[in-house]
Amino acid sequence: MLSRNVETFLGCDAGYTESKIVLFGAPFDSTTSFRPGARFGSRAIRQESYGLETYSPYLDRDLADCAVFDSGDLDLPFGDPGEPLRLINERTATILRDDKIPFLLGGEHLVTLGAVHAASARHPDLHLIHFDAHADLRDQYLDVHLSHACVIRRCWERLGDGRISQFGIRSGDRSEFAWARGGQHVRTRMFDFDGLAHTLKSIGKKPVYLTVDLDVLDPSIFPGTGTPEAGGVSFAELLNALFLVISQANVVACDVTELAPGLDISGVSTAVACKVVREMLVALG
Ligand code: MN
Ligand code: MN
Repeated sequence: MLSRNVETFLGCDAGYTESKIVLFGAPFDSTTSFRPGARFGSRAIRQESYGLETYSPYLDRDLADCAVFDSGDLDLPFGDPGEPLRLINERTATILRDDKIPFLLGGEHLVTLGAVHAASARHPDLHLIHFDAHADLRDQYLDVHLSHACVIRRCWERLGDGRISQFGIRSGDRSEFAWARGGQHVRTRMFDFDGLAHTLKSIGKKPVYLTVDLDVLDPSIFPGTGTPEAGGVSFAELLNALFLVISQANVVACDVTELAPGLDISGVSTAVACKVVREMLVALG
């Protein structure tokens, strides 16, 4: 029989009503500071996901048994990020209102801001857990406040002190680290995930937004990204950290950003991103 040509992420063909998780893509990279191409991330993740199995040997669970709806990519204008962020906020808010978990595929990291605004409107006591090579705490980048280099600072303006914990950080300018020092505004763990279990314990059952900038991974396994940064974590370390967060915390929304598939012609970076998304979906589902 003929069937509809509807491309979703691997195994995510459940209907909206019965789904617990809703995927959507934000193909936007207008504020990328170095090598552009993250706008193609969400589409590449969807297409290449078919190279994976739906079964997760890590969790002994199958993605096909999880109810996930893939609503496709948003139609976003390029250039000024105002309208894209508004559209991301709107889509996230709709999914949250229906008591489902929004799962945003980037795009560059700025897309997180629209989703965090929606999640904090729904959950005023929202906490943010942030995996990244970069602190993303600049107040401005080249006099611009809405940049992927400033996204976590903008999230802090929304959430306030003591709500943001970042891990894997190994790059930023002196002023970012000076601002973060002491942990009054945000908690910054350099280089690895040490202290994650302790952080999760202190957050308890409060709502958590989990944002994963894939450049937290070492560029030897994930070169396909705009701002690769040597000295990153391994795939196994990232996976363990994700499983810890998802099993311990009340994750109400999440994202995976900064895959720029065209920057790695081997396709390995996209395959890595697909596996990260699959494992997060299976763990959440
Ligand atoms: Mn980032
Ligand atoms: Mn980064």
